Amino acid sequence: MTASLSHKPYRVGRSRTGLGLFATKAIKKGTKIIRYFGPLLDSKKKDEDAIENKYLFELTNRWTIDGSVRENVARYINHACRPNAESDVKPRKRKVFIRAIKDIEPGDEINYDYGTDYFKAYLKPIGCKCDACEKKRKKKRAEARAERLRLKERAERKAKREAEKLAEARAKQRKAKAKKAAKANGKVGNGKALNGKKLNGKTLNGKALNGEHLNGHSLTASTVKRATPSKRAAARVLQA
Ligand SMILES: [Zn+2]
Repeated sequence: MTASLSHKPYRVGRSRTGLGLFATKAIKKGTKIIRYFGPLLDSKKKDEDAIENKYLFELTNRWTIDGSVRENVARYINHACRPNAESDVKPRKRKVFIRAIKDIEPGDEINYDYGTDYFKAYLKPIGCKCDACEKKRKKKRAEARAERLRLKERAERKAKREAEKLAEARAKQRKAKAKKAAKANGKVGNGKALNGKKLNGKTLNGKALNGEHLNGHSLTASTVKRATPSKRAAARVLQA
C-alpha cells in the first residue's frame, strides 16, 4: 500500500468477522499501537447525543469519541474476550490509545476487549466470534459429540445385552423342549420309561377307574332298584 503505512506495525486485513487489524511486525507488550480517534461528541448537545453507531467510545459521562470516521484505522480492531491489547483511556486528554498487553507476533490479529456494554448490546445477540469464544464453542461441540457417542455406545451395549438375554432365553427354551422330547422318546423306548408309564398309567387308570366306578355305581344302583322288586317278588313267591 502506501509508504506511510509501511513503517507502522499493522495492516488492515480479512478477519473471521470481516476486516481486522493485523500485526506486520513484532509488537512488544506495553507498546502503544495506534490511537483511536474521531470527533468528540458532547452529550449535552442534543444533536451530538443523538448520534448512534458501533464506533462510539465513551470517555466520560459527557464526552464520547465518534470513531466511525474513515481515518480512524483503529476502528478495524475487533473485540476479543481474551485480547492481546487494551484501550488505554486518557479522559482528561480525551484520548484513547490501543496498547499491547502481550507480545504480539507478526500476523497476529490485534484485539481489545470492547467492554461489557458493547458485548451485551452487539456481540451477545449474534454470538462473539473471538478466538476464545470460538474455542469454547468448539470444545462444547466436541463435548456434545462425545456425549452423543457415549449415549449411542451405551444404547448399543444395552441392545447387545438384551439380544444376548433373548438368545439365552431361547436357548433355554430349546433345551427344555429337547429334554421333553427326549423324555417322550424315552417313554416309548426304555430308560426313564417307568416313571413316564407310571404317571401316564396312573392318570389313565385313575380316569378309567373313576369313570368305571361312577358308571358301575349308577349301574349298580339301577340294578339294585330293578333287582329289588324282583327280590320282593321272589320273597312273595317264597311266602306264598
Ligand atoms: Zn469472545
